Amino acid sequence: MFGKKQREPFEEGNFEEMRDDLLEIGAGKVAPRKIHELERSEAPVCDVCNKKMNWEDGYVLSTNQVVTTEAYWEFAFTHQWAYYHDLDPDGVSLALIVQNQANQSTGWLVCEKCSKLFDFDRELAKKHAKMHSTAPPGSGPANSQLVASVAAKVWKKLYGEYPKW
Ligand SMILES: [Zn+2]
Repeated sequence: MFGKKQREPFEEGNFEEMRDDLLEIGAGKVAPRKIHELERSEAPVCDVCNKKMNWEDGYVLSTNQVVTTEAYWEFAFTHQWAYYHDLDPDGVSLALIVQNQANQSTGWLVCEKCSKLFDFDRELAKKHAKMHSTAPPGSGPANSQLVASVAAKVWKKLYGEYPKW
């Protein structure tokens, strides 16, 4: 039943702001809030769901581990980017988002709940979280072709057609 997924309704007045955000993300100007950008005193947030968390309660994953996982894109398109398909139904600008996500060079801090989306070495990823490390093994940009194919597959699953990029 593609395209029937329940999505968050637009909050009144936020539409313009969200569109601006989308354009900035698409233009590669705004990376998702990443752990290396946080002040030491600031509480970190999960790089998937944006909820505040403690390092010790999370896991540090590489970009490759996150953005080549279908569940990550499905979560993103049904949560923080739930408005994306309405703004760009053909997914024309999706390539820019893919590129931006694939290019993240540092690790991703992921909360316990979001960690269930991924298949990874939990012991190792926990060790890096406890060390507040942003450079887990295999960190660095992911293969953007591979990431694009994963994102496109999820796009089709949710919306019934491949993006027209
Ligand atoms: Zn999370």
